[in-house]
Amino acid sequence: MSLSLNSLIAVWSFFFGSVIASFLNVVIWRVPRGESIVRPPSHCPRCGARIKWYQNIPIFSWLALGGRCANCREKISPRYIAIETLGGFLFMFAWLRFGLDAPFLWVWIALMIVGSAIDFDHKLLPDFVTIGGMIYGLFLSLAIPLLFGQAPWTSLLWCVVGSLSGLGIMWLTRTLGTLAFKREAMGMGDVLLMGAVGSISGWDGVLFALIVSSFLGSIGGVVAMLLSRKLSRHFEIPYGPYICLANLIHIFFGQEIVAWYLGMLK
Ligand SMILES: [Zn+2]
Repeated sequence: MSLSLNSLIAVWSFFFGSVIASFLNVVIWRVPRGESIVRPPSHCPRCGARIKWYQNIPIFSWLALGGRCANCREKISPRYIAIETLGGFLFMFAWLRFGLDAPFLWVWIALMIVGSAIDFDHKLLPDFVTIGGMIYGLFLSLAIPLLFGQAPWTSLLWCVVGSLSGLGIMWLTRTLGTLAFKREAMGMGDVLLMGAVGSISGWDGVLFALIVSSFLGSIGGVVAMLLSRKLSRHFEIPYGPYICLANLIHIFFGQEIVAWYLGMLK
């Protein structure tokens, strides 16, 4: 593919990713509150003013309005523009790295963005992200090998083994953790999320996510405790975002990191 066409699609992927992420912002806000994601149309939560289409352009509108409602000047969380920018970059990176396979990854990226943000806000992972991710992995294992002329059954087996290893290892960790700490060590949502990671990235993806997420989670937990100045053993941090971050690192850089690590061992 010519370089200019490649860059053109990269720019388009960024724009497309930010548009999708703009919709994901609506999902993240409304779904945990039991609201419809289609009606009513986007409005300011304070004054109820409708957000007009030209005020709803990802990234640009937030900047143009200085992060405030055009009607009542209520502050709009910078997280909106952060998620739109993140979505844009992830969709673009997926294109640059995986080319025509990128759209398959975009779906999983979108699910992970929604799951992470909802877990962050409400300490829960919706089933459509976790169980949905597992089903999506099964779908990919059957659809993609057919696209590439591989045997679907080996691919399906790989997917099922990955999913079960993710579920199994997290269920075991949860059970042992609950026994050791005499309270729920992690939510069932985290167990199901790791099942989805296994379904999409296989058992090695599970292993990678397990190691890297506990490392990142420890750092994140300490930072969160220091920021909130609540030094409590019962401090609750969402684990889902770390699993997703670890899985993204694995998808984009896993091969390089594993090769580097194995090279270091020699
Ligand atoms: Zn307003």
